[in-house]
Amino acid sequence: MPGREMHELLSRLFPICRSITGDGVRETLSILGELAPLDVHEVPTGTKAFDWTVPPEWNIRDAFIADEQGNKVVDFKRNNLHVIGYSTPVDRWLPLSELQDHLHSREDYPDAIPYVTSYYEKRWGFCIAHNKRVGLKDGNYRVFIDSELRPGHLTYAECIIPGELQQEVFLSTYVCHPSMANDELSGPVVATFISRWLATSPRRYTYRIIFIPETIGAITYLSRHREEMRKNTIAGFNLSCIGDERTYSYVASRYENTLADKIALHALSFKRPGFARYSFLKRGSDERQYGSPGVDLPLVTLCRSKYGTYPEYHTSLDNLDLVTPAGLQGGYELVKDCIQLIEHNRKYRVTCYGEPNLSRRGLYPTLGTSSSTRSVRSVLDLIAYADGSNDLVDIGNITGIPAWELHPMAEKLVEAGVLVTADDQPAARPAGPG
Ligand code: ZN
Repeated sequence: MPGREMHELLSRLFPICRSITGDGVRETLSILGELAPLDVHEVPTGTKAFDWTVPPEWNIRDAFIADEQGNKVVDFKRNNLHVIGYSTPVDRWLPLSELQDHLHSREDYPDAIPYVTSYYEKRWGFCIAHNKRVGLKDGNYRVFIDSELRPGHLTYAECIIPGELQQEVFLSTYVCHPSMANDELSGPVVATFISRWLATSPRRYTYRIIFIPETIGAITYLSRHREEMRKNTIAGFNLSCIGDERTYSYVASRYENTLADKIALHALSFKRPGFARYSFLKRGSDERQYGSPGVDLPLVTLCRSKYGTYPEYHTSLDNLDLVTPAGLQGGYELVKDCIQLIEHNRKYRVTCYGEPNLSRRGLYPTLGTSSSTRSVRSVLDLIAYADGSNDLVDIGNITGIPAWELHPMAEKLVEAGVLVTADDQPAARPAGPG
């Protein structure tokens, strides 16, 4: 069970100050690269990506607010959420009244340091617990931010695990948030362990797993790979906020009609009843890019507690206690279940007219117990819908038997000559509006 190991990795990554560019992203990817085969790519500042441009690279060494006695009342070295992401450098004295314009706090969570960024508007500022803010005494304060904004690169990583088929399953997660655990470190940690697991045995499909800064990274990546991804991707999963223990959540694709929707819903409804279901109208992570018109990848987002819905979200309370080994383990298993469903989700056709003679093939239990009657009934139900048009998930949805239970039955029936596989390729992008 990798839950504990995942939590250890997450704890190691937690202190790093990440942003959409910079050394924090590089350090994070280099640590993840110890566990999974990652290819790191650097895209220069100024590169055009669809309607966007790769911004200057941001790095920060230190920041604080000090009072007249030199006491640091806010210290970046104690918590990197204290500085607005992409703050420009500053070193000056100013009165509290003026400092207030550069402070951000949350009255509704007075002990939490909020997470604030300003990637595309040049400014500087600090984030502080509201309780601390109201305790600041009148007087002058020194504000100091030792940061740097200059032409550099946007860094991302890609892990391609080739399978038998050229068709791909796509996983995306983001590496641009500073010290917060569920949003976001749970995503890259689970994706890394999934990559490691995928590489341990041969797969039918090819896997493309990417670790990018949110939004600008997804757009930059798509600007380089949109065509091949549209051609090859049969299902995709964006992983975000996938390490707490509260619930499981799913954000649908635009028309809720892709293989990814079907697979995620099967894994959730048969094994994780009570999960939260959100339409594309509630999108907020990189599904915004992957589901946009003309990109239209068959992708859904998988979360435990969805971003924006849990109280600790985007604050210092999203910490190493909120994300647990059991929470991460649950998220990991959901992704693994979806992948296994896709790998095994074939179509079958029965080879005879009428019900096959199961006893002639030694497939009919000679001892009539109620459980054997039930299992014979399941086998006959599987055969009854094995007309070449349904895949195992369809048959599971019709019969109420999870596809992971139908799969070994189907394999046995193929061995006995009762069924043959009738694939083809699963429909990557069902016809729909747009
Ligand atoms: Zn976020």
